[in-house]
Amino acid sequence: MVRLFDAIVVGAGPIGGYLSRKLNDHGHSVLLLEEHDEIGRPFQCAGLVNPQAMEAIGLESSILTPIWGANIHSPNGKIVAIGDPNVPRTFSVCRKIFDEAVVMQSIATGTEIMLSTKPISATVEDEFVEVKIDGSNGSETVRCKLLCGADGAHSWVRRKFKMGSPTETMIGFQIEVTGYSGDDGVLDMYTGNRIAPGFFSWAIPTGETTRLGTWSKANLMEGSSSEDFMKRLMGDPNLNTRFAGCSEVGRFCGPVPSGIVRRPLRERVALFGDAAGICKPTTGGGIGPGFRQVDILVPILSKAISDNDLNSSRMKNIASKLKDMKRDQRKKRALRDAFLTEMDDNELESIFAVWARPEVTDLINEFGDIENPITLGVKMLREVPEFRRLAGRAAKAILWS
Ligand SMILES: Cc1cc2nc3c(=O)[nH]c(=O)nc-3n(C[C@H](O)[C@H](O)[C@H](O)COP(=O)(O)OP(=O)(O)OC[C@H]3O[C@@H](n4cnc5c(N)ncnc54)[C@H](O)[C@@H]3O)c2cc1C
Repeated sequence: MVRLFDAIVVGAGPIGGYLSRKLNDHGHSVLLLEEHDEIGRPFQCAGLVNPQAMEAIGLESSILTPIWGANIHSPNGKIVAIGDPNVPRTFSVCRKIFDEAVVMQSIATGTEIMLSTKPISATVEDEFVEVKIDGSNGSETVRCKLLCGADGAHSWVRRKFKMGSPTETMIGFQIEVTGYSGDDGVLDMYTGNRIAPGFFSWAIPTGETTRLGTWSKANLMEGSSSEDFMKRLMGDPNLNTRFAGCSEVGRFCGPVPSGIVRRPLRERVALFGDAAGICKPTTGGGIGPGFRQVDILVPILSKAISDNDLNSSRMKNIASKLKDMKRDQRKKRALRDAFLTEMDDNELESIFAVWARPEVTDLINEFGDIENPITLGVKMLREVPEFRRLAGRAAKAILWS
């Protein structure tokens, strides 16, 4: 007997768990496959979840600390402090608890999960996809109307069905420490070519510990490793008062794929989350955008599953619903490139000098939203004369990309 499911979801990360639950909510049967023997390990994440994503999932119990502010450090150690203690901007969560709870929600709505199990072959037929799976209980052949790849940055599903590559993949490296002397509810962002070329490093409070991380792109790293950047950050004489008491308790490294792949959907196959290249180019955050992608696609995919009509042209049509997300990613990448990635340290210092002025800091506090920096970017270009000169290329990028 070959078992038939409406959908098979490969990967029980946060996006695979959320997707399975949403498919159940629309009345579909789901088999969720996870290659590891437990959920949420290994994890590679700074653990920031924005309020919208938290609301969608209702997992306030996983919050370690609400974050309301940021100290943004220039390459020479100048600090611009933003935020309001009464307005939480994001939440620092325990990813293990968060991921487990998201997957538990899907099990509660009817998803069948198989741990230590992965697909080893998949063939698209007229009426179904035939998937051979292999796991701790041996091999089995199962069928589904729709095969979903929520299997992360190195997605097997994406490679198997030649669905393209994310526009860019950053390298994220993070250590968890005790003894960092940060401010309660405030994250630190460090900039500069020596510690995070083209990007930034971070210190995120997580209750008893702090997550110190850095991300960049291979072509900007010029032979240095992520560990070199971390050592320089922690040994920087301008900053080392904060790092002096740090003691490492864990380390993680992982890819951050950003820029939706060329074919996120094809006949009977769809990609979600990191597998689809959904991470934000400005922060690397993938959970909020992944949830949003699921919310956009599931109601339309549900109809196609019910009709068992998931042919190429219908899937292409459904994929077009991601057009706004793609455009938004492009704009944010252009904004990031103009204000950060393509700036040298001297240009960054000039930007910080303007940001530090009280009226500009007020503007940042009023319109700044790490989830949507475009509003603030446009506002600054309009209202801060220096920015027109400093960021002429940004104006073009924001307005026309
Ligand atoms: C250093 C770093 C910091 C980050 N910080 C943040 C942050 O603060 N906030 C944020 O929102 N995002 C952050 N991200 C990104 C975030 O971690 C990802 O976007 C998010 O985990 C994506 O979820 P996902 O479910 O798509 O993929 P994943 O979390 O990668 O889950 C994929 C799952 O699929 C499983 N899998 C893979 N292949 C197979 C297979 N063949 N068969 C079966 N199972 C398989 C994996 O074991 C895993 O459980 C960070 C990333 C890095 C590297």
